[in-house]
Amino acid sequence: MKSQSTASKYSEEIRGYFFHLLESENEQGDIGFGSFKAVFDELMPVQQEKLRELTGNKFDSFMKEGSIVCIGIAYRGSVLDYIDSRQKGLPDYKLWNRYAHEYNRLNQTLNRMSKNIADQFNGIPLTATIGGTIDKVSDVTDYFRMVISHRVVAENSGIGWRGKNQLTIHEKFSCAIRFASIIIPYPLIWGKKYASKCGSCNACEEACSFIKNREKLPDYRENCRRYILFLKTKGIEKDVCGKCIKACSQDSILKSKFILPS
Ligand code: SF4
Ligand code: SF4
Repeated sequence: MKSQSTASKYSEEIRGYFFHLLESENEQGDIGFGSFKAVFDELMPVQQEKLRELTGNKFDSFMKEGSIVCIGIAYRGSVLDYIDSRQKGLPDYKLWNRYAHEYNRLNQTLNRMSKNIADQFNGIPLTATIGGTIDKVSDVTDYFRMVISHRVVAENSGIGWRGKNQLTIHEKFSCAIRFASIIIPYPLIWGKKYASKCGSCNACEEACSFIKNREKLPDYRENCRRYILFLKTKGIEKDVCGKCIKACSQDSILKSKFILPS
C-alpha cells in the first residue's frame, strides 16, 4: 500500500498535468479523484461487470488501492444560448445544432486528454461518450451496460452534486460540464461527496416535463432518449437535447454563482 505522501505527490502531478493540458487546449474545467472501490460499489451491476472486464486480472488490486480520476471541461456560456433556439416561436434546429457541435468538440478534447493522462500515469482511459448509439438501442437500459457512469465517478471525486436533473452540478460551471475518466492503479487523495445544493430550485423541472414527472413515469430516461431521437429526425446531429443544462445554468437559483467560460 502506498503512503499518504505518495498519494499526495501523484495527485499533485496528475492535477498539474491536467491543468497544463487544459491550458494548451484553451479550455476551463476541473479534476477530482475518487476511490475505485467506492465508484464500483455505486455502479449498476451491468456497469460493475464492464469495470471488471476493463481491468481484467488486475481487478482485485484496483479494488484494494486503485483510483478513478474524473476530468471535466466546461461549455462556453454563449453556446448554451443555442439550445432550444426559436424563431417566431418555432424551434430553430439549425441554431440548436451549434450546441450539438460544441458537445462533440468537448468530447473529442476530453478523449484526447484522458488518453494522454492514462499514457502518462499508467492508467486506463474511459472516453467521454460512446456517442451515436441512442438510435441503436431499443431501450435506455441497453445503453447502461456499454458505459461506466462518469456522474458516479464525478460525485465520488468531489466534483459536484447530483442535481434534480440527475446531472452532476459543479459549483462554478453548473451542469454545463462534460466528463471523462481514467482508472489509475494506485491511491490518490480522494474527494468527498457534496450534499445537494439544489434546495427549493426547480428550474430544470420547469424546463422538462420528464424531469418534473420522473417519480410518476416508469423511467423518465427512456422518455428523454425518445425525445433526443425525435430531435435527431429534425437535424440535430448528436445525441443531445440540453434544455435541462441551459435551465440550470441560466435560470436556477444558483445562476449568479455559476461562471462559464466565454
Ligand atoms: S436532455 Fe432534454 S429531454 Fe432529457 S431530461 Fe434534459 S431537458 Fe429533458
Ligand atoms: S436547475 Fe436547480 S434544481 Fe435543477 S439541477 Fe440545477 S440547481 Fe438543481
